[in-house]
Amino acid sequence: SRTVAERGKEDRKMLPIYAYRDELLKLVEENQVLVIVGETGSGKTTQIPQYLQEAGYTKRGKIGCTQPRRVAAMSVASRVAQELGVKLGHEVGYSIRFEDCTSEKTVIKYMTDGMLLRELLIEPKLDSYSVIIVDEAHERTVSTDILFGLVKDLAKFRPDLRLIISSATLEAKKFSEYFDSARIYMIPGRRYPVEKLFQKCPEPDRLETAVRTVFQIHQTEPLGDVLVFLTGQEEIETAETKLKERMNDLGSKSSEIIICPIYSNLPTELQAKVFDPAPKGSRKVVLATNIAETSLTIDGIRYVVDPGYCKINSYNPKTGMESLLETPISKASAEQRAGRSGRTGPGKCFRLYNVKDLEATTIPEVQRANLASVVLTLKSLGIDDVFNFDFMDHPPESSLLKALELLYALGALDGKGEITKLGERMVEFPVDPMLSKMIVGSEKYKCSAEIVTIAAMLSTGSSVFYRPSRNQQYLADNARMNFYTDKAGDHIALLRVYNSWKEMNYSSQWCYENYIQSKSMRRARDIREQLAGLLKKIGVELTSNADDLDAVKKAILAGFFPHAAKLQKDGSYRRVREPQMVYVHPSSGLFGESPKKWLVYHELVLTTKEYMRHITEMKPEWLVEIAPHYYKLKDIEETQPKKTQS
Ligand code: ADP
Ligand code: MG
Repeated sequence: SRTVAERGKEDRKMLPIYAYRDELLKLVEENQVLVIVGETGSGKTTQIPQYLQEAGYTKRGKIGCTQPRRVAAMSVASRVAQELGVKLGHEVGYSIRFEDCTSEKTVIKYMTDGMLLRELLIEPKLDSYSVIIVDEAHERTVSTDILFGLVKDLAKFRPDLRLIISSATLEAKKFSEYFDSARIYMIPGRRYPVEKLFQKCPEPDRLETAVRTVFQIHQTEPLGDVLVFLTGQEEIETAETKLKERMNDLGSKSSEIIICPIYSNLPTELQAKVFDPAPKGSRKVVLATNIAETSLTIDGIRYVVDPGYCKINSYNPKTGMESLLETPISKASAEQRAGRSGRTGPGKCFRLYNVKDLEATTIPEVQRANLASVVLTLKSLGIDDVFNFDFMDHPPESSLLKALELLYALGALDGKGEITKLGERMVEFPVDPMLSKMIVGSEKYKCSAEIVTIAAMLSTGSSVFYRPSRNQQYLADNARMNFYTDKAGDHIALLRVYNSWKEMNYSSQWCYENYIQSKSMRRARDIREQLAGLLKKIGVELTSNADDLDAVKKAILAGFFPHAAKLQKDGSYRRVREPQMVYVHPSSGLFGESPKKWLVYHELVLTTKEYMRHITEMKPEWLVEIAPHYYKLKDIEETQPKKTQS
């Protein structure tokens, strides 16, 4: 009988890239920088690092391969470990924020692009690496774009280092030009024809249409798996519920459909399920975010349902407002999505939109994102002149200015734009500057124990409150209100949830009884431990000040003071220094309560309006006390000051 590794070896030879193995290796040897382009699923991500290892590159150092998405890094690492017959975390590992699954043995390391940026802070010349693969380069995340500039520069000082820029779409020329006319290698792909069916009159309820289309495929098309592209966890969960409801209505047919969600916060145990082949006679329906567009290849897909939307980061440098925005996908994305149905045979793509609805191109994230975090990283790397950084596509000057302003207000940069001691301490934390300021700032208010808990609870990536189906929702809502006894706000409630859970010895039973997601709680505990460790590293003691909620709120404000909002006469809120209207998110425990006059919020979510998610009450005089450079007395005065010019 063959071992898993032996089977893996045979599978590997079936991939399109295998025929070009030797040619590729020769090119890597001859070229310090190589741009590789190949169809999704051809084997770039899983095979190239293994080829390099076989050719001896790991004798000189690690092979690092970056991915824009956490799930992709975890999933490909686990696949490659399996192919090599080694334990994940030994020779093959991955590193993502708050989760390091590597060891001293690790020679093939998959990681998010953001993690490689952080490694550069510790190891500026990446001496422990022999090859860096910037994979999924076409995604053009902020971190990938910054990495481009940094590794391009690094290559000059490390003639032995090899750089591979790997991408799925045909932006190769642009990548090559940027890397001083680097050699381009195209991996010829296999592709079957895909029939594309458009919807002439798109319906407003995309989700409902998508669900209906899945059933239409199931009832009229031959066997073969279906891949549905949705915008995020929320849509995926709703679609899953809808599909299950409809399956119940159809009775016996329900066993024929196997629903597999995949999105970035899906618990690890459930992620692997998406790759399991559907049992004979049944049809797998994969509900995926953009992750399945090019990052993950799921075999067996014959039908793609594409509603044509994705969620992107959108940032207004004028106001410093950042939110997730649902937007129509680009033409290139639509082609990629359709292509997912034609990998192993002819496919069909059901496009729930008109061809004219598509965006012509995608704007690189660096041109539409908040750059505070990367600017601070660059400053910490000693790159002072961020305006002249070698960006592949330059961000608007206003974005860089806004980032510098914010970092200055937070105290991370001084008046000359140089990184301060506080800034250096903030960089230690793998979170956004406002959150890291809140953590570091907690020292002053002697409530670091409370603040790391809140920071960890805000960083789990999904809600800790469980929302059951309709008829039980009021029970869950009642349970939740136990944590809002004084209606102080969501941050304080999160703190209470964590502390109650801890008092109950981290019991899952307690979570179950209180409608709390125990998986999110365990993740929070894990993140909390790491944040606490980092605080220790910078010499801050984990003191508790549990009885002084004002101290906790002040520490939150120390980081989030730019997110202060004031109640207006019409019940909406206005940001204090900006003319923007913002609203209480329905998921907040303060939603529907008698409104607080002054709030601080964690983040904004844009749906029909700008909603503040995670809010807590505060006192306006704290703003002037905590951020005197940012707020003046007139900002917080009760009545509008008369125009008396002095
Ligand atoms: P590319 O990077 O060129 O898009 P990959 O190397 O990711 O291609 O994928 C090659 C093949 O490996 C895919 O066809 C897929 O079948 C398989 N594969 C990749 N990741 C996994 C995984 N986590 N589980 C099972 N199979 C996988
Ligand atoms: Mg890939």
